[in-house]
Amino acid sequence: MIVRIALPTPLHRLFDYLLPLTPVEQEPQPGCRVRVPFGNRELVGLIMEVSESSDVPRNKLKPVHEILDSEPVVDPTLFKLGQWAARYYQHPMGDALSHLLPVLLRQGKPAEFAHAELWRAVDGATVDKLSSSAHRQRELLELLLEHPAGISADALRAEGGQTPLLKTLAEKGLAESFEHRPTQLHADLTEDLLNEPALPVHGEQADALEAIYAASGFTPFLLYGVTGSGKTEIYLQAIEKTLAAGKQALVLVPEIGLTPQTLGRFRARFRVPVHALHSNLSDRERLDTWLHARVGSARIIIGTRSAIFTPMKNPGLIIVDEEHDGSFKQQDGFRYHARDLALVRASREDVPVILGSATPALETLHNAHSGRYQLLKLTQRAGNAKAPRFELLDIRQQPLEAGLSDELIRRIHQHLGSGTQVMLFLNRRGFSPSLICNNCGTVVDCTRCDAHMTLHRNPPHLHCHHCDRQTPIPRACSHCGSTELKPLGIGTERAEDALQKHFPDVPILRVDRDSTSRKSALETMMAVVHSGEPCILVGTQMLAKGHHFPKVTLVAILDADAGLFSADFRGMEKTAQLILQVAGRAGRADHPGEVVLQTLHAEHPMLQTLIGSDYLHFAQQEMKLRYAAALPPFAHHAIVRGEASRQGWAEQFLQELDQSARTQVQMPEGVQVIGPFPSPMEKRGGLFRAQLLISAKTRPALHAWLGALIRQAEADPQGRRVRWTLDVDPIDN
Ligand code: ADP
Ligand code: ZN
Ligand code: ZN
Repeated sequence: MIVRIALPTPLHRLFDYLLPLTPVEQEPQPGCRVRVPFGNRELVGLIMEVSESSDVPRNKLKPVHEILDSEPVVDPTLFKLGQWAARYYQHPMGDALSHLLPVLLRQGKPAEFAHAELWRAVDGATVDKLSSSAHRQRELLELLLEHPAGISADALRAEGGQTPLLKTLAEKGLAESFEHRPTQLHADLTEDLLNEPALPVHGEQADALEAIYAASGFTPFLLYGVTGSGKTEIYLQAIEKTLAAGKQALVLVPEIGLTPQTLGRFRARFRVPVHALHSNLSDRERLDTWLHARVGSARIIIGTRSAIFTPMKNPGLIIVDEEHDGSFKQQDGFRYHARDLALVRASREDVPVILGSATPALETLHNAHSGRYQLLKLTQRAGNAKAPRFELLDIRQQPLEAGLSDELIRRIHQHLGSGTQVMLFLNRRGFSPSLICNNCGTVVDCTRCDAHMTLHRNPPHLHCHHCDRQTPIPRACSHCGSTELKPLGIGTERAEDALQKHFPDVPILRVDRDSTSRKSALETMMAVVHSGEPCILVGTQMLAKGHHFPKVTLVAILDADAGLFSADFRGMEKTAQLILQVAGRAGRADHPGEVVLQTLHAEHPMLQTLIGSDYLHFAQQEMKLRYAAALPPFAHHAIVRGEASRQGWAEQFLQELDQSARTQVQMPEGVQVIGPFPSPMEKRGGLFRAQLLISAKTRPALHAWLGALIRQAEADPQGRRVRWTLDVDPIDN
């Protein structure tokens, strides 16, 4: 017999292997893992098909080394979703499907829970059986008695137990250890769901919930709600209904590490286990969570992008919070979009899906307008909270100090003086984005990228934010030898410096990737913020995500113009989203907020619409421009990218690829090819990059043409000196 295997390789094909004769009842099915020889290695792959025949001559076929699963390890719905995604994103099947499996399963480990060794008191054991002077033994036994179902030694230690004494208790016949293998925990599925009651809802919130409750089967919703309007409360109540029906909920969020508050709210509300899939989990913990979700004992699963592939025994609801967020798109390898896959998955599982955002992606809004998604609106902040007041601060001809205008400094004083907090947003980390020679104007560039080196002060060095190259700060200009090198432009470190000078008595908390590289650093800073004392937060877009800062009453965007004139046609959309997301952190509860945007373009129509109206009006205007220019969401894009060690190679490769596909295949109607052009930053990390943009009126046309391109690219011998990748529905052009 022959099995067709998907192997994690970059090749767009499956591989046939011989299957040793097995009794019929043990015959492996599609979705089971096997270990096979591949070149001089062994790989773990998934069986796609069991077949009688192969195009490869029988004597060339190698046998499977080992069958790893007696039953399919991936459930049929996810297996099909994975295959669909591989085809949709035109990604090699084996590599795409490996995303369905936690790392340990990719390595061929068994799909089983960790066997935990637990301890418990034996029946009838009491502390009276220990001498009254054996304090520590008594304490330990008391702890054991508090955990009749058993507790691990680690957990005992965490509760202050002297675990070395466990042995003593065991010798005295008072305690015993046993092996515990969790299977179907929490059999009781519907009772006692809540730790705390749901908040009473009225008006728009009540209407939205009613619509969600009424949904049965696949129903996509766009929950558009301004920040603080109570979207999370809607999720919580929708999930409660799901749980009450004995089902599971999957919640995708942009970044868990940065939004412990959201996770905290889920855990505070529900009594059932809430499992978080985040980057700090060990491979073992990840597999356990995956298994809990698969057997149904994980009732709520919250995770980032890759959590979209979590199996669920009893799916009831999928939620994508902050659906506009770019982190849902994987930007290398298998370039899937978790939000888009959430829709496909919900449709296949036949469950409702809620996409929530204060600033929905134009693609999503387009789907809502065309009636594919039900649009639910929350236009007011929940409770007594007031919407923040926006103001454009014209900084033309204003002297700036480290990016701060006099007027802004005055406002900061004012807010701190009234006992509240201030948040400043600047999307550039480091001290200054470049170092320039005062004598000849030469800027220090990265040798591997078409980019300036960013100056960092703490510790002092130059850093390329594109390839990660780091160098000491040069003493003299490499061009003219002058020693007068000075920082040009403002990064968060420099703003922090200036703020410290102006406000020596106020804590300045800088939040960016550098200042939070140690995990506890962010927590420490957040503790200061949540103490409620006056302080100034200054940071990058890490500040825009998820946090609620109830005592912040002034939000200032130091450079509102940064994205206004971007070459990317999404630049304006991203700028609007960022501004509103940052603004949304301010003034919740009873502190009305003020949002100040420093700008040189106070008349810019986008800024005017954003502050004078709302995101939906901005989106409407932007949508008209997209329509006129036949850009997404009114067209479908894909980009073929190439990179090579010499300038011109990638461009030439893409040129020839385009030509040869045209000679081989009739180009479908409505397909337009733009380029190849050098990429926006041509040289990066020592490689020269180029790209070819394919735009099509319909998806089938786009996919037909991409198929033709891939066939040519795989056959092209030049492909070896040019590394090429394909990005379907790219989010940055
Ligand atoms: P969003 O997710 O849209 O930013 P949240 O759900 O976090 O909004 O709600 C913002 C604040 O309003 C939270 O403090 C929340 O507890 C409160 N809130 C939400 N809904 C209600 C409600 N129905 N009644 C009272 N307070 C509410
Ligand atoms: Zn110089
Ligand atoms: Zn670089």
